[in-house]
Amino acid sequence: MPIAPPIASRLAAFAVIRDMFEEGHRMKERFGAEGVYDFSLGNPDAPPPETFRGLLRGLVADPALDHGYAPVAGLPEARAAVAERLSAEQGIEVPPQAVVMTAGASGALNVLLRTLCEPGDELVVPAPYFVGYENYAFLAGARLVAAATDRRFHLDPEAIAAVLRPKTRVILINSPNNPSGAVYTPAELEALGAVLEEASSRLHRRLYLLADEPYRTITFGAAVAPVFPAYAHSILVNSFSKELGLAGERLGYLAVHPAAEDAAHVVEAASAVNSMMVVHAPALFQRAIARAGGIRVDTAHYERRRTSICEVLEAAGYDFVPPEGAFYVFPRSPLADDRRFTALLREERILASPGCAFGVPGHFRLSFAVPEKTILAAREGFRRARERACAAQGG
Ligand code: PLP
Repeated sequence: MPIAPPIASRLAAFAVIRDMFEEGHRMKERFGAEGVYDFSLGNPDAPPPETFRGLLRGLVADPALDHGYAPVAGLPEARAAVAERLSAEQGIEVPPQAVVMTAGASGALNVLLRTLCEPGDELVVPAPYFVGYENYAFLAGARLVAAATDRRFHLDPEAIAAVLRPKTRVILINSPNNPSGAVYTPAELEALGAVLEEASSRLHRRLYLLADEPYRTITFGAAVAPVFPAYAHSILVNSFSKELGLAGERLGYLAVHPAAEDAAHVVEAASAVNSMMVVHAPALFQRAIARAGGIRVDTAHYERRRTSICEVLEAAGYDFVPPEGAFYVFPRSPLADDRRFTALLREERILASPGCAFGVPGHFRLSFAVPEKTILAAREGFRRARERACAAQGG
């Protein structure tokens, strides 16, 4: 087989997700797209604001628009715009030199893991976690180690402390969280910072905290706490996929805490790795976000859907934590076997992702980045699936 064995073995993990997509596709062909309630995709459904589209049209219409290569760390105007935003957001002066523009948040995470980890190093992630993390760790030759969270899927710094070992290099957190919707508090981040400081001196190894925040602007009351004040060796990762509805345009960034030892070296190395992987982030969209200021998709779009999905789940008797941010909810599966339960949901033409894909079996994930009418139309299906599951368990 021409496929390298490690990649071939990793493809098996993809098969679960691919099968799910294919089954969803077959169902849509059979019942029509309207007849299938697809809550399985994390694709933001709020379009980019019209002001942003106008700005983009202006850029494209300019006959002087430069289509050549750009600097590998990013265009100066984009790095400056991101640095200005981060300085306000984090309450710490972030210079443009701390920022590297990347191909989305996933590009930033891939670059950082390859920059910071040696093969065999460990990456600690609170569970549940985004499915992509296993792949990024795999490509960097690192091993993902899951740490437990509390009952509401919030950070448990002691559980993280318990899994920090000589091989640990990176702790990766994600708030607002995909799939749980949890938004970590300043006190949790502070406690985590203290744990990492203590562990770095005990293990004689500098631990880096990566904060992956592509849902930062999508919250329902709780504000996302800044990570930089909590730990000097932290690196922010973000993208414009959700906040501007630009997932297809692949633009994101990383920013290294300016007070981190070797901050300049980490930025330099990350820029070099970025150039080895994709040369640089898409230049047209760097120009656009440099001009976009505070333009964001309207969070009310997701807030309405959050209200509807919570009502539907509550009426159907599900046990779930109302999401504080992002556009996912992670209810407990009425069957211990979450794959069996998502199969039951499929019989009701409802597509959902099993919790085992996010490192926490016994749950399932629903993305509510879908039309409101889809949520309302699935109401009876959710109720029936739960009743059938309870009947199957004799409870
Ligand atoms: N991190 C999390 C938690 C995500 O949910 C996603 C995408 O869904 C990504 C990273 C990747 O996002 P991007 O489109 O910015 O690469």
